[in-house]
Amino acid sequence: MAHAILSASGSSRWMACPPSARLEEKEPEKTSSFAEEGTLAHEIGEQIIRYNNNEFTKTTFTRRLNKLKKDKLFANEMLDYCDAYAEIVREKYLNAKKITPDAQLIVEQRLDFSSYVPSGFGTGDALIIADGTVEVIDFKYGKGVEVSAIDNPQMKLYGLGALDEYEMLYDIQKIHLTIVQPRLENISEFTITAADLYSWGEYIKPIADKAFKGEGEFCPGSHCMFCRVKAKCRAYADEQMILAKYDFKDGPFLSDIDIADILNRASDFKKWLTAVEEFALDQAVNHGKDYPGFKLVEGRSNRKYLDQDKVLKALVDYGYEESILHKPKELLGITAMQKAIGKKAFEELLSDLVIKPTGKPTLVQESDKRPAWQSEDDAKKDFQEVI
Ligand code: SF4
Repeated sequence: MAHAILSASGSSRWMACPPSARLEEKEPEKTSSFAEEGTLAHEIGEQIIRYNNNEFTKTTFTRRLNKLKKDKLFANEMLDYCDAYAEIVREKYLNAKKITPDAQLIVEQRLDFSSYVPSGFGTGDALIIADGTVEVIDFKYGKGVEVSAIDNPQMKLYGLGALDEYEMLYDIQKIHLTIVQPRLENISEFTITAADLYSWGEYIKPIADKAFKGEGEFCPGSHCMFCRVKAKCRAYADEQMILAKYDFKDGPFLSDIDIADILNRASDFKKWLTAVEEFALDQAVNHGKDYPGFKLVEGRSNRKYLDQDKVLKALVDYGYEESILHKPKELLGITAMQKAIGKKAFEELLSDLVIKPTGKPTLVQESDKRPAWQSEDDAKKDFQEVI
């Protein structure tokens, strides 16, 4: 798959830190099972939408779906989530048709926004074009972070691409940008006028030009999380090391404010350390790099059976009772079970048979959406105040 140097998906990064784009370009792109899973889900989602839109027969649909199901990353729950995404697209399309009978639904459309970003293009998962409006729907299969469509630069770049393509034909005045993230039950929507989107496009032009040339200031921040050079980036390291230089107040112990400040930075700091460790290991193992004071050794490993069937046979032949050699039958874990039978079947058959025990108290930032934890004593006090 071709990738733009200034991609829409990486736009929050190169807009905040323009030199990152050219530096990342030189690094090999690492694919992950999550990314491959996302690609497969997009292919399945596309086929469902096209079938719902009568683009081919049920036989063709079944044949294509069966082929995709052979992928090692396929799980039944994927079908449920892709169905959920396709259903949202269908509903939106039917609603658009009520207003504009010849509204168009287009899937997997290349969107060229190179009038604003040098060589910039991306793919719109689903587009609905009606009189005066275009809607760009982006399917996100990940469930790590909930993504908002509000003022989202990736979505706005797709919007600019859609505007450039369809503006003349349909007199587009409004652009709806929608993110569908079914595994988090997240549907996030944002609407912007064509005039506002154009002026945003003009605003980012000089930033994109700098990024394309590899110029501009390094600017570390939350956008560094997925930067391919973060493990060796000096600006990001400087930012992380601010913690080490933190000017704690006098006295033998840290104050509550000091501890809160450390907690605030801990998560990013730990991730950065892990990234540096992984980078250094890769360099040492695969590129023969020597780091002063360090050497490569063989890590710890656990014993394992060479051949489980032969082990069992040897023990049974010797006279051991087979029942003491096996674990009793074990059910799949909850997540694996949902993957195996799909979300719908899981909810229909098992919702009364699955409980969620109270979790251990965890310290998180105040902005976290979960309600504050109550100790048993607090709960009792609250109860007594009510009665
Ligand atoms: S790690 Fe952050 S500061 Fe460094 S190049 Fe990447 S985006 Fe820029």
